[in-house]
Amino acid sequence: MQAITVIPMQAGSARLDEVADPRREEGDLLVQTLAVGVCGTDLEICRGEYGWAPPGRDRLVLGHESLGRVLEAPGSGDLRSGDLVVGIVRQPDPEPCVSCAAGEWDMCRNGRYTEHGIKQLDGFMRERFRVDPDHVVRLDPTLERTGVLLEPTSVVAKAWDHVERIAARAVWRPRVVLVVGAGPIGLLAALLAAQRGLEVHVLDRVTTGPKPGLVADLGASYHTGTLSEAVPRADVVVECTGVGELVLDAIDKAGPDGIVCLTGVSSAGRRLTIDAGALNRELVLENEVVFGSVNANRRHYQAAATALANADQSWLERLITRRLPLGRWSDALQRRPDDVKVVLDLAA
Ligand code: BGC
Repeated sequence: MQAITVIPMQAGSARLDEVADPRREEGDLLVQTLAVGVCGTDLEICRGEYGWAPPGRDRLVLGHESLGRVLEAPGSGDLRSGDLVVGIVRQPDPEPCVSCAAGEWDMCRNGRYTEHGIKQLDGFMRERFRVDPDHVVRLDPTLERTGVLLEPTSVVAKAWDHVERIAARAVWRPRVVLVVGAGPIGLLAALLAAQRGLEVHVLDRVTTGPKPGLVADLGASYHTGTLSEAVPRADVVVECTGVGELVLDAIDKAGPDGIVCLTGVSSAGRRLTIDAGALNRELVLENEVVFGSVNANRRHYQAAATALANADQSWLERLITRRLPLGRWSDALQRRPDDVKVVLDLAA
């Protein structure tokens, strides 16, 4: 069968490949891949900056944002052939650590977790895959066109879960949210904020293309320019760009008792001069929390499935700005200015 494979840490090694059918040992559930989203992490892996091949192999099947249809399910469980499913990206470490043992592999303590399409486990950019039945989430059939957004939504569902747990330390509840960056993660973070009835502001650089309209249709405000022009103070800032200057500005924008959630994975090597004393003083005197958030566990996938099912489906469809067949994989891996989410459509 066909698959997109890559040699991790080797730039330009991605190719359309012929690979063996998924092996039984990979899991009892056989899934036909319908769609796979492309994300910044995939581009990083293709640039040779990230990723790990499965042990004993050079090549990794790329792709971690899946949507598929069950072809073969073990009779014992509640999954049936024809069900719409999404594979969970991270597998707990083999020991397992205290977090993985409790199903919180997103909080793995020893770094020995594995991730489909990223770290030592083949991904979903292949015509079929096998997984353990308890490592998928079943989706409502109405999400056939948009369920491929589940994995990035699970990432922001986790971010919001942790923001809310931190917010629970105080008697007041956050009202004003600033999302920095209107890529898929930023827009989905804004969707979840809007679903919570918060006042949402989204900042991005572009003034044209689909982003301003997508933000407006959430009932949120779209801003370009500086963070200060966007909103004088925010109760929660969700930073989705990973750009150093914006991360520091985001911290500056959080008001008293503010919470800053960092979700963008940045490349190392860019140095900035900061006044560490002033930063420390602000964090202390304003009870601010700055925290990083990565990945998601089953609870977050389920919360994300509910969020997607409650969202306006036509809004979600507009988030997917290009759908390309597997044969046009190399186009899909090139970023275009008006892209929000690009999806490889394997059902095409
Ligand atoms: C994925 C996460 C993953 C992270 C780090 C992100 O792109 O969405 O599931 O944990 O990369 O590898």
